[in-house]
Amino acid sequence: MLVVEKHNFSLHNPSWKFTLGPETYETKDTPRRVEAIRAALAADGRFRFTQAKRFPEGLLARLHPYHDFIKKTSRSARTNGEEIYPDLFPGEGARIQRKIHPLWGGVWCTDAVTPIMGRTYEVAKGSAEAAMTGAKLLLDGREREVYALCRPSGHHAGPRVFGGYCYFNNTATAAEMLVPHGPVAILDIDYHHGNGTQEFFEERKDIFTCSIHGDPSREYPYFWGYRGERGIGQGEGTNLNLPLPLGSGDDAYLKALDRAMRAVRRFRPAFLLVGAGFDTHGEDPIGGFKLSDGVYAEIGRRLAAIDCPVLLCQEGGYNLDILGGCVRRLLSGFADGRSRSKT
Ligand SMILES: [Zn+2]
Repeated sequence: MLVVEKHNFSLHNPSWKFTLGPETYETKDTPRRVEAIRAALAADGRFRFTQAKRFPEGLLARLHPYHDFIKKTSRSARTNGEEIYPDLFPGEGARIQRKIHPLWGGVWCTDAVTPIMGRTYEVAKGSAEAAMTGAKLLLDGREREVYALCRPSGHHAGPRVFGGYCYFNNTATAAEMLVPHGPVAILDIDYHHGNGTQEFFEERKDIFTCSIHGDPSREYPYFWGYRGERGIGQGEGTNLNLPLPLGSGDDAYLKALDRAMRAVRRFRPAFLLVGAGFDTHGEDPIGGFKLSDGVYAEIGRRLAAIDCPVLLCQEGGYNLDILGGCVRRLLSGFADGRSRSKT
């Protein structure tokens, strides 16, 4: 299987840490995540690697109204050597404040854990370009399955605001490239609901979105990801949320995955995009599920059971000791499933 990577992923390296009562919190999104995944895949002879191509910024800027904010703020952070965090969030007032204060972070960003640093723009653009390169390879017919090693993740970045370690929505950007050529399904298997991806497409009938995730009444992103969110207007019925209780294990997860894949197949997509997060593992420091090492190969096999080109984009996963192995297992299971369906 082909892996699309970008050489600059490690240049975005947030340092945030804060103490609240007895707890100290620090970012889990370190560049070592990419290094761990790459090392695991490179040690397995079944993967080929290619660098992401560069793309003009037009599509990213059109989809993400905060594109210029991130670009300009990143440039000034680079000049001043700063790490910029929003600390004022105007809520509904953001619609007005965007015109008056377009460079205030809180009008575009949902939280204070997604800082902008000197290289953030170029690294976030590179992450989207990994997904875009994967989409282009599928469109050209040169590959039928591609894994894009994206970092930062993208699925919490939406059409109004970004946040949750995400700056640009990688899968949504790839979906926009693919959808002129046929309907697109996006299945998000990160532990957290793909709120940005859902919001991008909830009024569209040509893009089906589905997410399996931790119960949002207990877990980030809290305000999205409930079962009742089924799409809006002509997009009614094209969003499926499958929240699972904290502590869910392999059996419950595979059951939800089967349900998601049945819905995806019913939609008859020309392309499937997978938001591949691994914070579902029982030893992940953020996620609350109890998935085992072994289940990822089975997840990969079940994802492969669809007769269309597939692009898998890396999302979360924060236990550096197991992340690379989980990615390798899922992709290997996926490749096994594809080769089995050919025979
Ligand atoms: Zn996550």
